[in-house]
Amino acid sequence: MGGFASVKWIIRVVFVTLLGFLVFLIIDEMRKKNVPMPTEIHPIVAEKRDQLIQRAAQKGITIVITDDFRSAEEQDELYERGRSTEGTVVTHVEGGESYHNYGLAIDFALQLKDGTVVWDLERDDNKNEKSDWMEVVSIGKELGFEWGGDWVGFKDYPHLEMDFGLSIRELQYGERPPVR
Ligand SMILES: [Zn+2]
Repeated sequence: MGGFASVKWIIRVVFVTLLGFLVFLIIDEMRKKNVPMPTEIHPIVAEKRDQLIQRAAQKGITIVITDDFRSAEEQDELYERGRSTEGTVVTHVEGGESYHNYGLAIDFALQLKDGTVVWDLERDDNKNEKSDWMEVVSIGKELGFEWGGDWVGFKDYPHLEMDFGLSIRELQYGERPPVR
């Protein structure tokens, strides 16, 4: 008898938990849907991006910004790369889950004298015994960027972002960094 009663009890707890989770999911989706997504890079991040290019140039390093603002649709397309479409996996997040989708991230690469764009963490073309890539990363950090190469787990070496203290969930719910 006691055994049967506790089975009923477990079923009840599981049911209530699932219901709670479902309600959470519905509210979560509703909160996300009611917020317009940004359509361009955040002005402060744009300013810091330009300063990064200039300061790197002062050290004899030419960089190109390969990506800054990316719409949620573009992010979804990118996510499919290496999954349902050809190529290698370049991102682990879908639309709305990347700081790029809120105009708060940039990706850079090095540009050589002949115009070739490279992703090379070792080279030292300005011959100061320091990796050019890491010099750019240092400048980025001085400007207030966080570097994807510091992430635990999946490392994104070209990636620099500014979160203004906001998590992706807070951004999904419509919180935005101040413009000035
Ligand atoms: Zn990135």
